[in-house]
Amino acid sequence: MKIDIVSVFPEYFEVLNLSLMGKAQSKGLLEITAHNLRDWTHDVHHSVDDTPVGGGAGMVMKPEVWAECLDELLNLPAPNEDDSPDELVFPTSESSDSPADDALDFSGIPNDETEEDDDSNAAAPVLIFPNPSAPLFTQRDATELSHAEHLLFSCGRYEGYDSRIPDYYRAQGIDVREYSIGDYVLNGGEVAVSVMLEAITRLMPGFMGNPDSIVEESYTGEGALLEHRQYTKPAVWRGIAVPDVLLSGDHGKVDRFRRDEALTRTNEIRPDLIEALDCKALDKADRKT
Ligand code: SAM
Repeated sequence: MKIDIVSVFPEYFEVLNLSLMGKAQSKGLLEITAHNLRDWTHDVHHSVDDTPVGGGAGMVMKPEVWAECLDELLNLPAPNEDDSPDELVFPTSESSDSPADDALDFSGIPNDETEEDDDSNAAAPVLIFPNPSAPLFTQRDATELSHAEHLLFSCGRYEGYDSRIPDYYRAQGIDVREYSIGDYVLNGGEVAVSVMLEAITRLMPGFMGNPDSIVEESYTGEGALLEHRQYTKPAVWRGIAVPDVLLSGDHGKVDRFRRDEALTRTNEIRPDLIEALDCKALDKADRKT
C-alpha cells in the first residue's frame, strides 16, 4: 500500500519507522511518504493559512496551497484559471429550492475524467481529511481502507482547512473521506492520521506475524462486540486468580465463557453495540446471556 501524508509537521511521522509499521515498510508492504505542505507555498513566509471569512478567532488553511499540493499528488491537471469563473457560486438555502440546485457549481473546472489520462494504470488514492466535525472513523472503515492501494492523508491545523477543498476534489471524482477519531478536539490532524493509519495497516494481509491475532478482536466481524477480558500466567497473581474455566482445558467451555463475557461487558460498556447487533449473529446460548 502506498501512503502519502501532507502536514506542516512531516517530522511527526518519523515514528512510523518504528515497530510493526517500520517492519512493514522494510518488507515492502507499505511505502510511506510524509510531505511538507509548505513546499507548495510561493511567499517568503511559506504561509498556509489566512483569516476566516465572516470573522472569528484563529486562522483557516488556504485552499490555494492545498490545491497545488493535492493536484500534484493526485496527478490531476491544475484548472486553467483563465477558463474558470471568477468566483465559484456556493448556493445558500435561501437561493435554491431543490436538492439538485444545491449542488456546487464547479463548471469551468476541468474534470479529470475528461482529460487525457497519462497515468491510467495507477489507482487514484483515497483522499482522507481528519476532521473533528466529521463522521466517526470505525473498525469498519479501517477494514474497508485496508484493501486500498493508495491513501492520501491531509492533516489540518489551526481552525481547520477551507471546506471547499474536500468539496472540490469530490467534484473531480476523487473518493474523498472526512473522519473524526473521537468526540474531542486535537491541535492538528497528525495524531488522528497516525491513529487511522495504525488501525488500517494492521488489517492488511501479511502485516501481522500471526494473522489470527486480528480475527477475534473488539469491534471486529459481523456481530461486533467488545472483547472478553484477557489473562496470562501465573494462575494466581497478588491473590487474584484467573477464572477456573480458563484452566479447565475444555475448549467448548472456554469459548462459551469468553463469548458470555464479551456479551455482558458490551452490554454494560457499549449498549449501542448490542442494539446494533444483527439477531442472526446470536446463537441460542447468546440470547440467554
Ligand atoms: N475548528 C475545528 C472544530 O472546532 O471542529 C477544530 C480544528 S482542530 C484545532 C485542527 C485540525 O486538527 C483539524 O482540521 C483536524 O485535521 C484535526 N483534528 C482535531 N481534532 C480531531 C478529531 N477529533 N478527529 C480528527 N481530526 C481532528
